[in-house]
Amino acid sequence: MSYQIPRGTQDILPGSSSKWQALEQTLRNLCDVYDFNEIRTPIFEHTNVFKRENDSSDMVNKEMYTFQLENSNTSLTIRPEGTAGVVRSFVENKLYASPDLPVKLYYMGPMARHERPQKGRLRLFNQFGVESLGIKDPYADAEVIVLAYTILKALGLNDIKVQLNTLGDDQSRSAYRKALKEYFAPYVDDLCSDCRRRYEQNPLRLLDCKVDHDKECMKNAPKMSDYLTPESQEYFETVCQALDLLEIPYEVEDTLVRGLDYYTHTVFEIVSMNKEMGSQSTVLAGGRYDGLIPYFGGPEGMSGIGWALGMERLLIALEAEGINLEENTGLDAYVMVLDKEAKPYAFDVLTQLRAYGYRSDMDMMNRSFKGQFKSVDRKHAKTAILIGNKEIEEGTATVKLLEKKEQVSVPIGDLIEFLDEHLVEEEEHHHHHHGEEE
Ligand code: ATP
Ligand code: MG
Repeated sequence: MSYQIPRGTQDILPGSSSKWQALEQTLRNLCDVYDFNEIRTPIFEHTNVFKRENDSSDMVNKEMYTFQLENSNTSLTIRPEGTAGVVRSFVENKLYASPDLPVKLYYMGPMARHERPQKGRLRLFNQFGVESLGIKDPYADAEVIVLAYTILKALGLNDIKVQLNTLGDDQSRSAYRKALKEYFAPYVDDLCSDCRRRYEQNPLRLLDCKVDHDKECMKNAPKMSDYLTPESQEYFETVCQALDLLEIPYEVEDTLVRGLDYYTHTVFEIVSMNKEMGSQSTVLAGGRYDGLIPYFGGPEGMSGIGWALGMERLLIALEAEGINLEENTGLDAYVMVLDKEAKPYAFDVLTQLRAYGYRSDMDMMNRSFKGQFKSVDRKHAKTAILIGNKEIEEGTATVKLLEKKEQVSVPIGDLIEFLDEHLVEEEEHHHHHHGEEE
């Protein structure tokens, strides 16, 4: 009998978890600077939080992990995305009553979608997202886009493109929907089966089709921009001007409609242009939504804007650009046990080092000097602290300073002080190096 991880999921092993932690750190820090605060919602919700009337998206209709326990009438769904749960919580906890709007939140964690697994597409993956809830103002739109761009730049991504579009308000969208229906009527039978469904349910989504994308009728389809009300037009121009002022590069992409049905006004994606990304090149996506807060029982007319990035996909994009998030952090000290009888003493020294906050470890496998010294190397220890019968007798520790290639006998009572001095020196040396490189 063997056990295997479910298809489309992955373990994050100790070898790569430091990469994740570095990523999470940057995300948290920048959100803090932008005054976004973390919210944590359950990873499953009542199914109707995600499955809302009229939603025609694949995610909601084909990809959700929905379950019902025995002896229960309650249908639950593992979250496929973050926004719905966050908005549900925003309303349920009356965060909309805050005198300081928008309420700016961020979240991160696993999402589940039953998709066909491939590179950059998992069944259980992690998203990091932000939501700015409670006001409709073009500067709130610009703010989240600036934050998104700043995060990706801060991580070192270079080869990215911001794509921007507007879906306008209800009036703009229904005029556009009508135009699309009229335009596509003669072509509908030639489109893929998904598109024939989209034609009936939500013709805007026709533009999102990856199958029919290159057909002539797609290229000549009416453009959203020709159906915007003057107010919607002005709203979009203000968002663009705010980004222009900050010199955030973007392209207006008039076929960008986004996968979910609740979007209005501004929608955007950030795409990695690196060839290795293949068809899974969208790293981050988001937009404004008007109907969602009222849907959950919040104030009528209150709207929000947010985005989510796929953390696995972002890590792939970083790797494709040769960016390494990991700091090469070795141990401060590795305690080597030279004689079996010295083990308790060595363990005591180790515990003291740790009490002082030194990252340290010791040999517990009773290996030869050579074997232990290989660990010193593998763990990139800055010092090796040798403890044997001789050291116990003398009340000393033998310290190998690995960078300087020196060996010093230090009275055990002075060990911490000695390390303090030495490791600070080493740190300065390290920073100096860095400074020179830049
Ligand atoms: P796609 O067109 O690639 O299916 P989507 O429109 O379904 O994307 P969103 O719901 O907008 O994606 O999710 C935001 C981000 O989350 C995506 O841009 C992507 O980086 C990431 N993401 C979405 N689905 C997956 C998945 N199955 N595996 C890994 N990351 C994903
Ligand atoms: Mg998808």
